[in-house]
Amino acid sequence: MDVATADEDDPFEEQREQAENPMRRLFAEYGAENTVAFVVGVVSSVVARVLDLIPPVLLGLAVDAIFFDNKAYTLLFVPDAWIPATNTGQLWLTIGIIAFAFFGGAAFHYTRNWGWNSFAQHIQHDIRTDTYDKMQRLNMDFFADKQTGEMMSILSNDVNRLERFLNDGMNSAFRLGVMVVGIAGVLLWINWQLALVTLLIVPLLALFTYKFVQTIQPKYAEVRSSVGQVNSRLENNLGGIQVIKTSNTESFESERVDDVSQDYFDANWDAIGTRIKFFPGLRVLAGVGFVLTFLIGGLWVLGQPLGPLSGTLDEGEFVTFILLGQRFIWPMAQFGQIINMYQRAYASAARIFGLMDEPSRIEEDPNADELVVEDGHVVYDDVTFGYDETETIIEDVSFEVEGGETLALVGPTGAGKSTVLKLLLRMYDVDEGAISIDDQDLRDVTIPSLRRQVGYVSQDTFLFYGTVAENITYGTFDADRENVVEAAKAAEAHDFITNLPDGYDTEVGERGVKLSGGQRQRISIARAILKDPEILVLDEATSDVDTETEMLIQRSLDRLTEDRTTFAIAHRLSTIKDADNIVVLEDGRIVERGSHEELIDSDGLYAHLWGVQAGEIDELPDEFVERAQERDARRVESDDD
Ligand code: ADP
Repeated sequence: MDVATADEDDPFEEQREQAENPMRRLFAEYGAENTVAFVVGVVSSVVARVLDLIPPVLLGLAVDAIFFDNKAYTLLFVPDAWIPATNTGQLWLTIGIIAFAFFGGAAFHYTRNWGWNSFAQHIQHDIRTDTYDKMQRLNMDFFADKQTGEMMSILSNDVNRLERFLNDGMNSAFRLGVMVVGIAGVLLWINWQLALVTLLIVPLLALFTYKFVQTIQPKYAEVRSSVGQVNSRLENNLGGIQVIKTSNTESFESERVDDVSQDYFDANWDAIGTRIKFFPGLRVLAGVGFVLTFLIGGLWVLGQPLGPLSGTLDEGEFVTFILLGQRFIWPMAQFGQIINMYQRAYASAARIFGLMDEPSRIEEDPNADELVVEDGHVVYDDVTFGYDETETIIEDVSFEVEGGETLALVGPTGAGKSTVLKLLLRMYDVDEGAISIDDQDLRDVTIPSLRRQVGYVSQDTFLFYGTVAENITYGTFDADRENVVEAAKAAEAHDFITNLPDGYDTEVGERGVKLSGGQRQRISIARAILKDPEILVLDEATSDVDTETEMLIQRSLDRLTEDRTTFAIAHRLSTIKDADNIVVLEDGRIVERGSHEELIDSDGLYAHLWGVQAGEIDELPDEFVERAQERDARRVESDDD
């Protein structure tokens, strides 16, 4: 079966190709737990359909046996002794059975929908939560740029599409299957010769529908891809609206939007052209079947059977044929849609299992112990690491931080400072060497116990939807208001928080009050103070704020880092000059280390960076400027990759 068109830049393509029939796996892993709902769905579908077929069949019988009186009134599965002798009695019986069929049908329609919906909703819920759990455990690489969009689409679109197939698709498939088989059975039972005439049309309808699906499928793929292009263009332009206005390029952009929109129009029109021919085509075919049945059956009722036909055809049988024969059209039309849904669900299931099968790079040792921090003595021993095998980012990095001391990491952008600290939080594992905290190798301790004791304050603080207080207690959920206020005070955040419309209960995040970068950072510092970790990681904690705010943040940081082992990355060297130890990184290697004074005296990279920040640009040696230019050029190259 044709699996969805592969997206470019598809991070899960490899897993997807490996995933064996994902639909089978879906039923094996998730269907089994919901067998009851499934069985209720299937059984009710069958019974409801059979009940649906009773009225037209009885109607034919009633016409022949009661009104024209040219046939005995007999019912399948009902002993003749139970059947009333008079026509009126038979009429009552007929009406009774038809009424029962309608009411029973209604009840089974209900249980059928309950069964299928319950089956689909439970599976949808289980898959969504499992996929989310798995996603949270994926490596950080997966959360970079495009792949976040891809994951959102798996978690919402693909899971929804599965649900649609499991509910509507399967429900319809069973219903239609029973219908087609049931109708064919009834027709054959009544008069097999005329039934063959009516059923002649079925393979033609099926072939026609199949051809239609084959033709429309690639056209729909085209439509989806052009929708994607329209969306990307619109999104990009909205994001860049300021540039568009200031560059006076509105008409240029309008044309570009016009182009992609035209492509979408063309693709859609092409698909519509095919689609709108389908139903009329189906009707023509069904009409041919109907006319043939009517013609041959009609002549037969009039006593003029055509060619090899033998026996008789009653008026009532003829009515049943006409009524039931009509019912073939819709099932056939819907089969096409079900095949379509199946194909889409197949592609979605493949994407979901592709994500679930993605191996985690960091595996916790099943025998891992809890990390016990006493001093907070951290050792990096010859650490080497690369995000992928082709490039080493950190090479032979060794240093030691005594409990309670502060180590600052300094170096140009891209030197590997953040990477060094990501290794401490075990976002990734070292390739060579080891990192230990109080003599415990990070790989031998449980990840939650590590992350609980290593606090992280980053340069851009993410606020969750919720109140200020909830954001401060994030991760320390049992803290009471008193502790929160205390932490906020220590973080120099209390004053601005009390000025917010609802104080600590003010909603923040995208839909709430907008906080400035400096305010968000202090919330994040308050969060860290409340968490009270033994070891602290500050990733450029004071970038992008004005001098006054920086002073406030610095004061709060001083309180936070007191008596804690602290790792700090800062571009603004003034903020780390009092650190106990400074390690200078360049291209993933340590090039200098020492205290601020020692490093200034040695007149190396640190001294030059310090010089730049002090505004002594003219006094820098040419060699330093050349190295900076070289590094800058390399950054552009790697950005272009
Ligand atoms: P710094 O913090 O000193 O600016 P980083 O540790 O962020 O440096 O980055 C060091 C190098 O690692 C850079 O070349 C960067 O492009 C690369 N890098 C950072 N994160 C990733 C990642 N998730 N995947 C691949 N390469 C990365």
